[in-house]
Amino acid sequence: MALVFDPAPTPSVAIAGQDARFPVRRVFCVGRNYAEHAREMGNDPDKEPPFFFTKPADAVVDGGATIPYPPLTRDLHFEAELVVAIGTGGSEIPVASALDHVWGYAAGNDLTRRDLQAQAKQTRRPWDWSKAFDRSAVIGPIHPVSETGHPGSGAIRCEVNGILRQDADLSDMIWPVADIVAFLSRSVEIRPGDLILTGTPAGVGALSAGDTCTVSIAGLNPASVTIGAT
Ligand code: MN
Repeated sequence: MALVFDPAPTPSVAIAGQDARFPVRRVFCVGRNYAEHAREMGNDPDKEPPFFFTKPADAVVDGGATIPYPPLTRDLHFEAELVVAIGTGGSEIPVASALDHVWGYAAGNDLTRRDLQAQAKQTRRPWDWSKAFDRSAVIGPIHPVSETGHPGSGAIRCEVNGILRQDADLSDMIWPVADIVAFLSRSVEIRPGDLILTGTPAGVGALSAGDTCTVSIAGLNPASVTIGAT
């Protein structure tokens, strides 16, 4: 097949302890998955089905990167999240076998232009410009399930310049990973290389130029990002 120009390289993220990288196909994110965060955003945390939004695959950035302060916003927020890396595709996946589709886990940061999200909510427009901007998905190295198992509990934390800002436990998730994979697979056929950011706990806040933000999850390498000058 002839292409009129060379396609962009496949986006990928690092794998802990390996030179090989994980090829990213799509990036899905869960909207609200911790009750305290739902409350801090003014929502009722009753157990409604999870909802999803997406980021482009090439929005991924390896942990440790320095990124420019993004355009259009004056309120860039951090969101510490457990990232699920899909290794086996499927649709209509039952909860009981959903974890068999997971290749590994990473710490991640769902960077958000919060002011644009507030505008989108107010005007009933899509969230894309608040969530799906360049370098908006910071992903730490992925740990294969064969090494870490499936983390159902353990600390999830976010520090900005060494100061603790988010401090919760993975067991606080409203919908655990198996349910999220099952729900997602009813809306789309999930495919190898898909990443799922599983929602953030309470304590989200703003980042400024010069800040370093580190997401840590028990048993996984942290995902840091430094915000460069505007
Ligand atoms: Mn999020």
